[in-house]
Amino acid sequence: MTVSVPPDATKGQPGTAAAALFGCCPRCHGRTLFAGVAKFADRCRVCGLDFTQFNVGDGPAAFLTLIIGALVTGFALWLELAVGPPFWVHVILWVPFTTAAVLGGLRACKAWLLQAEYRRSAREAVTEDWTVDPQDRPE
Ligand SMILES: [Zn+2]
Repeated sequence: MTVSVPPDATKGQPGTAAAALFGCCPRCHGRTLFAGVAKFADRCRVCGLDFTQFNVGDGPAAFLTLIIGALVTGFALWLELAVGPPFWVHVILWVPFTTAAVLGGLRACKAWLLQAEYRRSAREAVTEDWTVDPQDRPE
């Protein structure tokens, strides 16, 4: 595996978690990563890094849905069994909490994955030509 980011390139820069939390560009660390709540900008407004070359996929959304759904269900059940509030209390509590947790978590996870992809120079795998016999492939 070839690493194209020199070791000094990350010296003095914020860590992956901090950069993800604040939506920082992985190259210049300006807060330019997002154009919307959880939508990446096409490129960095400061250094011009093309964010469309990275593919973080939808993996964070599935994990966040499952994890946050389990947490909210657990908290709602605990509240119901402990206090037994009226239904509108659950609506006032859990709808904004779930929305904020999903959007905030999605934003941080997507930024974290993009930071990691940039730092490790990760790229999409290229498939080989499977019609050629492996013994006939050039070394
Ligand atoms: Zn930048």
